[in-house]
Amino acid sequence: LFDFKIILGKNGVPVAENFRLEQSTMADTIQAGQVRVRTLYLSVDPYMRCRMNEDTGSDYLQPWQLSEVADGGGIGVVEESKHDNFAKGDFVTSFNWPWQTVAILDGSLLQKLVPQLVNGRLSYFLGAAGITGLTALLGIREKGHVAVGANQTMVVSGAAGACGSLAGQIGRLEGCSRVVGIAGTDEKCSILVQEMGFDAAINYKKGNVAEQLRELCPGGVDVYFDNVGGDISDTVISQMNQNSHIILCGQISQYNKDVPYPPPLPPDIEKIQKERNITRERFLVLNYMDKREASILQLCQWIQEGKLKVRETMVEGLANIGVAFQSMMNGGNIGKQIVSVSK
Ligand code: NAP
Repeated sequence: LFDFKIILGKNGVPVAENFRLEQSTMADTIQAGQVRVRTLYLSVDPYMRCRMNEDTGSDYLQPWQLSEVADGGGIGVVEESKHDNFAKGDFVTSFNWPWQTVAILDGSLLQKLVPQLVNGRLSYFLGAAGITGLTALLGIREKGHVAVGANQTMVVSGAAGACGSLAGQIGRLEGCSRVVGIAGTDEKCSILVQEMGFDAAINYKKGNVAEQLRELCPGGVDVYFDNVGGDISDTVISQMNQNSHIILCGQISQYNKDVPYPPPLPPDIEKIQKERNITRERFLVLNYMDKREASILQLCQWIQEGKLKVRETMVEGLANIGVAFQSMMNGGNIGKQIVSVSK
């Protein structure tokens, strides 16, 4: 068994060397209620940056401990079961999957997966048909105030990432008449427009974002799906309409800084937000798990109908999970960053 351990938790930019790969041994037998699983896919996500701090900034996130095995979203196949709900060969998932090639897990922590729902693309259950898809869909439904026929313009930051690429498409499916993305490369921008149906996309690393946004959103911005915070968000908020809505999904540009979550807006932007009555409520997908099942079915239906285009960036091998995490935090991914651990 190979597992991944945390070796450094200091402030700053996360790097692959924060993680260490070790070989360990595992118990030969499993207890009643347990299952032995082989890991197929692991997810790396921005919130893990917060788990690298002793104080994660959120009561729902526990810090990873130094020299303990890291964990996160994972998918695997049952190899042996002493739990009534699971049999050998079942595909299962958990939010707290250990970063190990094989593991003995408590069956009560696992959910069974139905591969047919995602045309056999199991890894989608970590992205478009999992927490990422739920975040995009429920963020829009709970905080976006999107309505069919309301002629709304939506802007999405972090638009070519896992959440963002889905959020723009779902914004359109839910009724927005114009969807504009903001992302970090020309390639990402062209995929958003040509493949994902965005009306336009802005490369924030090139040119003047404010000017381009004014041209591309002549009627102003009604809904802002915010994945990044910082300067990009200040620019978007400055162009938002009266009584418009921010979906405060994430603030990745601030995660390496020692600031509270959600980070306060600069005073001039906060003034605009207040004067224009722009909502900016904290959104946490885990607060809406009662809507999980129905929402996953909706996402799977859109995927099967081809209405939701899904992109993944796949890295092979547990040994590369630290590299994959570092890369995702730096924009190396298009769509969901996944680590394929075994076939
Ligand atoms: P992701 O967007 O697939 O990956 C992160 C992306 O962030 C990178 O690809 C990079 O793309 C962009 N980025 C990194 N640093 C940036 C910076 N300084 N400024 C602008 N963009 C930057 O990750 P994800 O899993 O979909 O998560 C997206 C956001 O959703 C995160 O903020 C995350 O915390 C949040 N989230 C929230 C919830 C919730 O319940 N509220 C649940 C899941 C995720 P570029 O090339 O465009 O820079």
